[in-house]
Amino acid sequence: MSSGIPQAPGAPQQPGAASAAASAGQQSATVLVVEDEPTIATAIAQRLSAEGWRVEVARDGLSGVEASSRLRPDVVVLDVMLPGIDGLEVTRRIQAEHPTPILMLTARDDETDMLVGLGVGADDYMTKPFSMRELVARIKALLRRVDRAAQAAATSPADPPMTMGDVTVDRAQRRVYRAGEEVHLTPTEFELLVMLAGSPKTVLTRERLLAEVWDWADASGTRTVDSHIKALRRKLGPDLIRTVHGVGYAFEPPAGS
Ligand code: CA
Repeated sequence: MSSGIPQAPGAPQQPGAASAAASAGQQSATVLVVEDEPTIATAIAQRLSAEGWRVEVARDGLSGVEASSRLRPDVVVLDVMLPGIDGLEVTRRIQAEHPTPILMLTARDDETDMLVGLGVGADDYMTKPFSMRELVARIKALLRRVDRAAQAAATSPADPPMTMGDVTVDRAQRRVYRAGEEVHLTPTEFELLVMLAGSPKTVLTRERLLAEVWDWADASGTRTVDSHIKALRRKLGPDLIRTVHGVGYAFEPPAGS
């Protein structure tokens, strides 16, 4: 025996460790990082692992799609420029298989503008270089949003579907239909639609939508809101959501609904 520390027989150790693991909550989240630059991928993985999250790295688009399918991650951090298929195609494939929150990394501001214009179906965007602290904050906000959505679905299963023109929103099942066909929305698109539809004919500012849907305290992500509005219009028709220039958006229920 090299240790001189006396140990009481039967000292309880395991139960404490087990309950700490069980109450980890958000800390047990799985994050998939799809990034081909090794130094960036490693830095992100180390920082996110330090948060207590389970992290896996994929180095190209196809591996990213495969890993997402296998892991069912809570969040995907996705670089746009990747060898093989790019981040846009990776987003399409991941969202087609299983709606998953995606935080997209871009190289330049104008690249972010282009993606926002396309409404590609990412939940949030960050332009390189970014601070690891901000990346962690954005991921935590995404995880809170998903938690909240799951709780809402569990506690209000009896919410009747909302019908607006040819669009039906089933809040209990978190499904949306247009002319009887299911439309796939990302988790954030769904939250945004429900928020807007919950206050018809009322202007909601970008800042308020950011605070309520994205959990952001500052207004630096208003382009993210615009991107999601664009995606909703593309999927559900151009007339449901009206732009109030310089202010925000208003939900316009079609006549007769
Ligand atoms: Ca890259």
